[in-house]
Amino acid sequence: MDVPDWLSEARRICVLTGAGISTESGIPDYRGPDGVWTRDPDAEKLVTLSYYLRDPEIRRRSWLLRRELATAGVQPNAGHAALVDLEQQGRLRALLTQNIDGLHSAAGSTEVYELHGTVHQVVCTACEERMPIADVLARVDAGEPDPDCPVCGGVLKTATVYFGEALDPAVLDAAAAAAADCDVFLAVGTSLGVYPAAGLVEVAAAHGARVVIVNAEPTPYDGLADLVVREPIGTALPLLLGAPPAR
Ligand SMILES: [Zn+2]
Repeated sequence: MDVPDWLSEARRICVLTGAGISTESGIPDYRGPDGVWTRDPDAEKLVTLSYYLRDPEIRRRSWLLRRELATAGVQPNAGHAALVDLEQQGRLRALLTQNIDGLHSAAGSTEVYELHGTVHQVVCTACEERMPIADVLARVDAGEPDPDCPVCGGVLKTATVYFGEALDPAVLDAAAAAAADCDVFLAVGTSLGVYPAAGLVEVAAAHGARVVIVNAEPTPYDGLADLVVREPIGTALPLLLGAPPAR
């Protein structure tokens, strides 16, 4: 793979990652052929706020599913490691992710903007108290199928963005600011089909950034991109983002 000079010389790279970077860690793309949504057509209700808040049965099924996914024992892969390396080179402007799996932090990235939240934390829908999901899953295992908030008795949910919920405006603002202030915008493992991912590409391009897309499937922004890479993410990212040769 030929790495263009403008990429080797980039100093403020903004990276956006999606489900594709985590499939190599064994996490199925929820919308893919083996995904939860595809296997259980009712599953979308488990993360739709209105259903979740009014139906204890939905919440019971949701916690059981969270426990099933949490015990998978997944580890970060070479794609995540390449982004840690990019940060250590001092060339990372910001790391934005649509993923809720926490694998960037697990790999060692120090500042990650999680656009859709994180599955590792639980939040109270009434008082906004936060707690580790491990504590809540332990209560499920101990016989509480629908654990309530230890502070106010409210309904608990994972600190992820459910259907019917807005994204965190502070995270969204930081992501937009980074997209407007980078020399390269690198989209990895995302179909760029949903908000806000698509908008961030447009912001970056409008501010003069080069656009790189690494994704197995075509995206609506391939025509706008300066470089499109179809190789597997775990092999492509170390090549694309390796430390530039000394001059
Ligand atoms: Zn509460």
